[in-house]
Formats: sequence, structure tokens, C-alpha cells
Amino acid sequence: MNVQFLGGAGEVGRSAVFVNDALLLDFGIKTDSPPQYPIGDIDPEAVVVSHGHLDHAGAVPSLLSGDARPPIHWTPPTYELALTLARDTLKLHGGTPQCPFTEEDVRRVTEVSEPHGYREAFEAAGHRVEFFNAGHIPGSAHVLVDDGETRLLYTGDFHTGTQRLVSPTTERPDADVVITESTYADVEHEPREAVESRFVDSVRTTLWEGGTVVVPAFAIGRTQELMLVCDAHDIDCYVDGMGKEVTRLLRQNPEFLRDGEAMRKANSNARFVTGRDGQRKRIADQSTVIITTAGMLSGGPAMTYIPEIHANPVNKLCFSGYQVEGTPGREILETGSAELGGRHLQVSAQVESYDFSAHADRDGLRSFLEAYRGTPLLVNHGDSCAWFAGQLESEGHDAQAPELGETVEV
Ligand SMILES: [Zn+2]
Repeated sequence: MNVQFLGGAGEVGRSAVFVNDALLLDFGIKTDSPPQYPIGDIDPEAVVVSHGHLDHAGAVPSLLSGDARPPIHWTPPTYELALTLARDTLKLHGGTPQCPFTEEDVRRVTEVSEPHGYREAFEAAGHRVEFFNAGHIPGSAHVLVDDGETRLLYTGDFHTGTQRLVSPTTERPDADVVITESTYADVEHEPREAVESRFVDSVRTTLWEGGTVVVPAFAIGRTQELMLVCDAHDIDCYVDGMGKEVTRLLRQNPEFLRDGEAMRKANSNARFVTGRDGQRKRIADQSTVIITTAGMLSGGPAMTYIPEIHANPVNKLCFSGYQVEGTPGREILETGSAELGGRHLQVSAQVESYDFSAHADRDGLRSFLEAYRGTPLLVNHGDSCAWFAGQLESEGHDAQAPELGETVEV
């Protein structure tokens, strides 16, 4: 088997792995400015997508812009999420170099889509392929690929810890080689229960004081996780932005949720914002919780809420995930001020950060990889892949970190 790294090698973003010059695993976007896409000019016979995040599924429609119509295999939620992301990219950037596909390409996705559940083996480009729950977001999968001689496990993004939205990964299918993500290889997450209780205490305090809490959250996974947290602790919340649509989609496939009934309850506890008739400004005046995109304040309805609440020190801004360098979210965390929608904001509201990560941390990665001792490991999807591969080697693993464009014979 040969495995070529077209993206996601030594970086987070634009994941793409080409197996035996035939089967493509993921085809993502790296959201730099300008955005970056997987390298090379490939003609896959079939495509398999591990999960519905932009950095894994974002460029998939562009594979259909020529005459080729490779089937695209994924779980039902991944299909729905990839379509939603594609339509959002079209809406925001259609017709510019920041959108690598057309509306027609997106329509073709619906024609070639082949959804599969977990543990339902299927054939793709002459390979036997099987999905296993990866515990990252609904529908996220570890992908096992067998070409008849070699079994490759592509972990995709995964989480070994418990979240309210999805069950953690537990299956460790036999494999001859493993491509593993390493996003948080050098981080130890605070236990989720502790994060949650700090978050809930802080939100309650602000509500008692009559303040407003804005929680910037990614649309996919994080918004729903926070809805579940609020409902579990009897905290009313508003939900705004793309997370509303994603919540609706995820509820259509409750078998990919940890607890469909809990999600149904959280959904009825939340109030979804339409944004009509100045509704957002009125909500921002209430003592309440607002869960809204964008998670790093790079757009979305948060751009309306933050200017409304930023000047009052009773109010609170609770980030719910990692803030990438160069985003307004990171700027506010580090300096207490940022350029938002063309306006300089000095934030007097309290600013806090909570790590609701959906990735395995240092210990999580190690406990997962323990099942693959003696199996060659290829480390990707991280900012320090080479460092982590070195760490694994020193712990007795057989590990390497392929570079962008490298082909590895396994
Ligand atoms: Zn992901």
C-alpha cells in the first residue's frame, strides 16, 4: 500500500490522504487568508470523508468540477454537515478564489453521495472500508481501509473523553499501519466535569448580577454541546448563527448522538434567534446566555452581540474553544481589545476561556495508541507532528511524521 499526504502533514487544516493512487481520504480547506487546499492534481476513483469539519470536508465539492464523478462515502451526519459547509462557503465566498467550487458542483455531491453507518463495511476503489465511532462530533469516524494486503487505520479527529453530545471512541480495530491525528499532543485538558462546573458557576454568577453572557461557539458540535450543558443545569439560553441549522440536521440522525432524548430536551430549552426586527439588540439587553457563532469572533451574529455587551463590566464573554492566532477572539483574550466589524472595541466585560475540546489530549492520544504498540504510526494533523513522532519513538513506538507531498510505502 502506498499513502500520499496531500495536506494535513505537519499542520492542522486541508487534510487529504491518497491511498494507492485511487482512494482519497478527506479533502479539506485550511482557512488561512488566502485559504489553502490540498496539493497535487489527483483523479480519485472514490472518496471517503472522516467527518464534517471544514478542514476535512471543506473542498470535497471541487472534486466534481470536471468530468469525474467519484462516489463519496461518509456517514449520514457527515454528508449533511459537508453540504451545509459547502453552501455556507458558497454564500460567503462564491465566485471568488476563496470558494473552490460552484453551486453545480455542490448539487453533484448529492448525486454521488453514498452514506454508511458505523461497522457497515463497503467497497470503495477496490478497497474494503469500514467506519468506527471516533467520538469527536456526530458522525465522525475512524476509517479502516483494507487493500487485501494491508489494513490502514486512519483515525481522523477523535476524542477518548466523554462529551454530552457524542460517546467517546472505544473501538480499536486491528490494523497494520495507523495514521493518527495529533492536534493536542502537547496539551493536557482539564477534566470535562471540572470545565463544565466552572463554566456553569461563572454563568450563574453573571445572571444573578443581571449581566448578559455571550458564548462564542463553533456551529458544529460545540453549539450543541453547550446547549446540552445549559439544559442539564437548568440555564435558559438563546442560540444564534449557523449552529441553529446544524442542530436541526444533527437531530435528524439521533442514532449518532450519545443521547437523542437529551438533545431533544436541550432543543426545547433553547430559544432560536431569527434576528428579525432588531431582536438581537433586545436580547443583548437581557440577563441571559447567548450561544452564537463565530467561535473565534471572525463573523456571524457574534458581531452584533459583542459590540452591544462589551462596555459593561457585569457582562461576560465566555470563549468555548481554542482561539487561533490572528482571530479577534485571540486578540481579545490577549489584549482585552480587538478590531470587530471595522470598529475598535475596548472590552470592559469579563473575558473567560473554557476548554470544551472535542479532541484527545496527550493522555488520550497515548491511551488510544497503546492498542497499536508495534504497529507503524504515521503522525499527522498537528502543529508538532515531528516532535510527537519523536516522543512516541522514545516510548518504544514505531512512529514517523510524513511531510507534505510525501508518499510512504507501508
Ligand atoms: Zn474535526
